Amino acid sequence: MPLNIPGLLAPFHVLINPRLVIPSLIIKDIRQLDFQALRNAGYRGAVFDKDNCLTVPNQDRLVPELEDAWKECRETFGEGNVLIVSNSAGTTRDPGLLQAESVTHHLQTPVLLHPSPKPAYSTISAIRAYFSSLPPTSPSPPPIRDDELIIVGDRVFTDVVMGRRMKRRGFISSLFSSPSPPPSSTPTTPDTQSPWTRTGPLTILTTHLWQRENTFLRYIENNLMHSIRRFILKDPTPSTKWRGEAGAYDLFVKPQFRVMEKEVEMGKGRPGHRLPKEKEGRERVWEGVVVS
Ligand SMILES: [Mg+2]
Repeated sequence: MPLNIPGLLAPFHVLINPRLVIPSLIIKDIRQLDFQALRNAGYRGAVFDKDNCLTVPNQDRLVPELEDAWKECRETFGEGNVLIVSNSAGTTRDPGLLQAESVTHHLQTPVLLHPSPKPAYSTISAIRAYFSSLPPTSPSPPPIRDDELIIVGDRVFTDVVMGRRMKRRGFISSLFSSPSPPPSSTPTTPDTQSPWTRTGPLTILTTHLWQRENTFLRYIENNLMHSIRRFILKDPTPSTKWRGEAGAYDLFVKPQFRVMEKEVEMGKGRPGHRLPKEKEGRERVWEGVVVS
């Protein structure tokens, strides 16, 4: 397997900017996402990782459990506005781009062709070029900007870091960014009433693994994420209860999952799915929530 040099260099960038590893939102899998709420809040495009986010690693078909959510996502954002950016399909690890073609066919969604793996800046440029190239569709004005994207993936050092690198920062970057236009959709909840402010993509980390892979690296990444959040960014929330930046969870996770998780935290669980007593209130409870 070729080395992911941009991914290996990411920890050095984290030394300069620790927030790079902090996602906007943590969910179990994409079934929890309220796509209409995201659309209403002004998000017009979506970038998805493939392996262990939408498919079993190195397979080309959508995980059957995600079919309804995937359909809902594509219908909500519009076919061309959903893009798969993988570190396998569509890269130099995909000779002849056969896997990219197969994934596009099975998931009915374009796969970005990019020579460098996430979180490389060249991949970010390719994502921007893709969304800039979309034809104008009324009433959505082109192009879709970075802060109108959601970036969804299961790895901190690739997906989260890439999304965070697309965030506007400070005075200098604000000079080069255009003011936010009003949301292009017809929101059921006006964006002006939303407490959510956007300075870049909404970066969403998924925790459920459809197949175990890179367990040790994931352990390191997750511990680093929570350590930085608690000890550098001074957020006292325990890692078992932290679901992302303030407000994101309540705004963008479907209400039934928010209720379900609260019940599990209180030790109720769902009938027939009660978890072992010794695991109640611990992270395993979060990972064990039944979301079907
Ligand atoms: Mg992945």
